[in-house]
Amino acid sequence: MSRTLALARQLIAQDSVTPDDRGCQSILASHLTALGFDCEHMQSGAVSNLWARKGTAAPLMVFAGHTDVVPSGPHDQWQSPPFVPTERGGKLYGRGAADMKTSLAAMLEATSQFCRAHPAHRGSIAFLLTSDEEGPATNGTAEVCKTLKQRGVQLDYCLVGEPSSTTVLGDMIKNGRRGSLTGRLTVNGVQGHIAYPHLADNPIHAALPAMTALTQEIWDAGNEYYSPTSLQISNINGGTGAGNVIPGQMTLDFNFRFSSASTVESLQQRVHALLDRHGLDYQLRWTVGGQPFLTPRGVLSDAVCDAIRAETGLKAALSTSGGTSDGRFIAQICPQVIEFGPPSASIHKIDEHVELRFIEPLTNIYRRTLELLLL
Ligand SMILES: [Zn+2]
Repeated sequence: MSRTLALARQLIAQDSVTPDDRGCQSILASHLTALGFDCEHMQSGAVSNLWARKGTAAPLMVFAGHTDVVPSGPHDQWQSPPFVPTERGGKLYGRGAADMKTSLAAMLEATSQFCRAHPAHRGSIAFLLTSDEEGPATNGTAEVCKTLKQRGVQLDYCLVGEPSSTTVLGDMIKNGRRGSLTGRLTVNGVQGHIAYPHLADNPIHAALPAMTALTQEIWDAGNEYYSPTSLQISNINGGTGAGNVIPGQMTLDFNFRFSSASTVESLQQRVHALLDRHGLDYQLRWTVGGQPFLTPRGVLSDAVCDAIRAETGLKAALSTSGGTSDGRFIAQICPQVIEFGPPSASIHKIDEHVELRFIEPLTNIYRRTLELLLL
């Protein structure tokens, strides 16, 4: 059995439902220690984090990922138990098989092969692991990045093992993610009788032109890597339920999925300006779901794409599609962040799996990336 497969199986057997690491990081740390890494466990509440580094020279190449998984869902709907790694029909089944324990195993094995073959390589290598990616993501990667920033640790390249491929290994890498910003708007009026509108102030009527303007506004044109920023209204509430009452308030929820051509601040300012222009009496509460990040084509994306092509013959597409990831925190302290891992089609689902034929190539692509960056 390949070493990557054996380690992936060992990790899947730990039921590390977020934020419980269940010892996965200790398993990885024992291998890393044997390779000469300094391992630092950074516990933060119920969340386990691991920062492991070998060497002090620049450039620093970081492998990042998470040991936690989403809940399995009903066990009886799985063809084999979710925390019993099972090979069947050319696939390895188990919760975390694709997201992202096989990637963690492949990173570890790639690093092991690289360090043994090239003990005098340039630069240094680190691992940044958390058990809080699938949960609130506040005590995990974000926390470690804050500590690293305080210490003045300079990261140069970061490869996150998220399942970035679509149908075959290597058809897509992620070089960024869109941001998410939610607003809850409350528009104030004066409640009254429908028959005496001059004694009331209808907040729904007042808000209509502003709502239309919000949906028609062009927030930005996107850029080479991002589609334009979009705003969607998700909820709208107003009215007392009675047919003869003008309500005193209405509320509206909307969400931006935004490109790197906009910022949280620029979008907030423009929404406030628009609402003010329409003369509304309102309160607006904002929640930042995630900052966008973007790594333009450069040394790291070229290295990953070249490694993919050498291993599979494929030309990987660069994409910023999909939800948020921990890459957004790392991008605050690292100029180049790329996500690459196996196909994502089964992640978070019943019968999550990774195809066995992708496991060795995944290991080789990570190792080739190290060779391209650090030799
Ligand atoms: Zn993941």
